[in-house]
Amino acid sequence: MNKLTWGDSGLRNGADNIVLDSQQIIVTRTDHVPLLRFYENTQTVALGAYEDKNFAVRTAYCQTRSIPIIRRITGGGTSYLYPKQISWSLTLPAQRLSIEQWLDIICMAVCRGLYNSGYEDINFNSPNDIYAHGQKLGNVHVGMLDNILIANGTLYRSLDINTMLRALRVPKEKLTLAGIRTATCHFTTLPSLSDADLLQLKESLAQSIALSCNLPTLMQVSWVNNTSQTYVCNHNDLTENAHEITYSSFTITPGGILHGRIQLDANIRISSLHLTGNVYIRPHNLFRKIESVLRGAAEGEIMQRMDNLFYENQWELYRFTPQHIMVLLRRLFEQHRIAAKLSIAPSAASSFMIHDPDGTMDAFDIAAKADTVLVPYCAKPTWCKWRHNDGCSQCGKCDVGQVYQIARQQGLQVTTVTNFEHLEITLKALKERGTKSYLGMCCNNFYIKREYAFRSANMPALLLDIAGANCYDLMQEQSAYSGEFSAESSIDLGVAEKVIKLARREPVQ
Ligand code: SF4
Ligand code: SF4
Repeated sequence: MNKLTWGDSGLRNGADNIVLDSQQIIVTRTDHVPLLRFYENTQTVALGAYEDKNFAVRTAYCQTRSIPIIRRITGGGTSYLYPKQISWSLTLPAQRLSIEQWLDIICMAVCRGLYNSGYEDINFNSPNDIYAHGQKLGNVHVGMLDNILIANGTLYRSLDINTMLRALRVPKEKLTLAGIRTATCHFTTLPSLSDADLLQLKESLAQSIALSCNLPTLMQVSWVNNTSQTYVCNHNDLTENAHEITYSSFTITPGGILHGRIQLDANIRISSLHLTGNVYIRPHNLFRKIESVLRGAAEGEIMQRMDNLFYENQWELYRFTPQHIMVLLRRLFEQHRIAAKLSIAPSAASSFMIHDPDGTMDAFDIAAKADTVLVPYCAKPTWCKWRHNDGCSQCGKCDVGQVYQIARQQGLQVTTVTNFEHLEITLKALKERGTKSYLGMCCNNFYIKREYAFRSANMPALLLDIAGANCYDLMQEQSAYSGEFSAESSIDLGVAEKVIKLARREPVQ
């Protein structure tokens, strides 16, 4: 094997390009031929191989705009693809390198290919983003299928930030004019950097990739593709499995966010488990293997089964460990205990987010030691004069007022968090006054995006996801443009009351 065969398959829809990726893998595996294919995609949202679309994509928006959602063979996060990007797929027999090493090699090869074509100040931000002059120019994703490496890459020739921000689950605050402007400044395009010829650029990228992969010669071919199958993705087909979802949870790791859904049988054993995440793993079916070995396991048996699986198999988790999966599984079982103890539905228990920096406390320990409740301003009515202020006159016209009342009766302090900076200030003040833990309500999107703020406060928290409208899901561009999120989220008052009453404070008479 000393030759990289490369070509261009032109503009196709995303689903066809995934079919071509699969064909590429087969040819590389059976004929030992490394292949590099350049192409363009029609508008497509491409999920990472292990991602849950519910956490990554605004399906309703994609449906309205007829933007198909496909799943890549490569790991990592979701990308928004459209014409006027240079996309490419590389397949080659994988040598004994880790995911991290492959990401480094391929990203560096892309940087060198760009540099050799006249682009300057190019570098990559680990793990997989290509930058020029400090602005993002593209990305790379990799996947391993047995002994085959597949890499997908994209370089921008134009930007469609508006659609990208709406199709992918980014915070809605980014949809303000200022937010879009900021996002736009974050990106750059090939034409804005150089007027280099695109054909030459592709050849330069092919040469650089070949060199980095120890393939000294290049052979250009006209790409013959016989893909007649145009699979138009049904947005509802991506529900991933038909299991009844009993409990769901997530955990944030340095390598991405792991999501888990679990169904327990009458003996509190796993009857089904589904693991997803915007992560890189190897082998490709590792999550399916874990799901399979844990079927039928009680909580106390999980660790042994996991140890056996990881001992008997070759595996790689990029920037996370089996311990993170254990934390996720523990959380899922903990939700069952919460549901049982508080007599609440599994879906309500699934709304609990446990922030436990040391990993030593469960939800009940955290609630018992809490001295404060944080509520988000978005749960207050839009007409309430307290909506953007910390406080509440308990006029009795909304559930937030009820939360204030119940918490104060329980001897807890209540704070309305009015914005992100206010959250940081509040957490700092709690820490300084010796708060051991606190209760809070916010949407899970907010927690996922801003987990670092909770982490830097270094206090355990029991957080409840809010329901109803939230600024991540609502398409309220006009009101967002004017800087005001005007919809109202809602708190499950019954659940909030039960949780607040777990706090062991002296009741106020
Ligand atoms: S109860 Fe409090 S937050 Fe709700 S409407 Fe009345 S003053 Fe506003
Ligand atoms: S908690 Fe409310 S305001 Fe904050 S991010 Fe979530 S929906 Fe938006």
